[in-house]
Amino acid sequence: MRCDYHVHSSISADSSTNALEQIKQAEALGLDEICFTEHLEIYFHRGEEWHLDLQDYKQRFAQLISSRVKIKLGIEAGIALAAEHFPELEDELRSMPCDFVLASAHSVDNIDPFDPAFYEGKTLPQAFRDYISAISNGIKQLDPDLYSCVGHIDFPAKGAHTESDSRLFYRYAPDEIDTLFRYIIPLGKCIEVNTSTYRKLGQLKPPGEDWLRRYVQLGGEFVTFGSDAHSPKYIGYRFDDAVEIARRAGVKYYATYDRMKPIFHKL
Ligand SMILES: [Zn+2]
Ligand SMILES: [Zn+2]
Repeated sequence: MRCDYHVHSSISADSSTNALEQIKQAEALGLDEICFTEHLEIYFHRGEEWHLDLQDYKQRFAQLISSRVKIKLGIEAGIALAAEHFPELEDELRSMPCDFVLASAHSVDNIDPFDPAFYEGKTLPQAFRDYISAISNGIKQLDPDLYSCVGHIDFPAKGAHTESDSRLFYRYAPDEIDTLFRYIIPLGKCIEVNTSTYRKLGQLKPPGEDWLRRYVQLGGEFVTFGSDAHSPKYIGYRFDDAVEIARRAGVKYYATYDRMKPIFHKL
């Protein structure tokens, strides 16, 4: 598995890495394919700079070439939106056909899971329940033709300001996870295994085996793997661990995408 489907560059508001540096690193690692997934957020609490200038992105992307790594054009679209703003997001996504759209949430009721306020007065399992419910609420309002995959369902694992174990376990949010999986699987959508949460694991085992197993039980057959690298050092980060966990959970394939069509590869 040598495809990283979650890579940012300085086109995103929170990265200062030139896209060429990411490509060079992917080449050095011998990856087959990377997909840039630049942030597209509208009405976002962190500000206007998170809005993606799609025409500018397209032009800059057209100049990126590599003889060794396939480069795909993707978007990470924020779906933690009020219902009335979805038509606007959909218009933007329709205006720029690309290879892959990762739908993800970076806030819940305008509170950032990186903000300690998000965890005030609630347990970590409750924080995950709130977060995964926000994903479900958002994804149900987005035209399924306009996204490919749901990103980082365990995002609060990164934001939780705790020294102790902040991994997501299925038992923390069984109803919320089931609701999400039961909605996306019949639509032919998948979930992402995002290895950026692995960065703070220390000696702990990488998360996901239990919720991936549930995903498989409910009919999920494929995933994407993404490092969420905003700088070169994290491209392809701990993909061997991620693949092992997905395999153990029974996931059959990973997907890459070409103009929104999934291509399945045996895991
Ligand atoms: Zn994200
Ligand atoms: Zn990202």
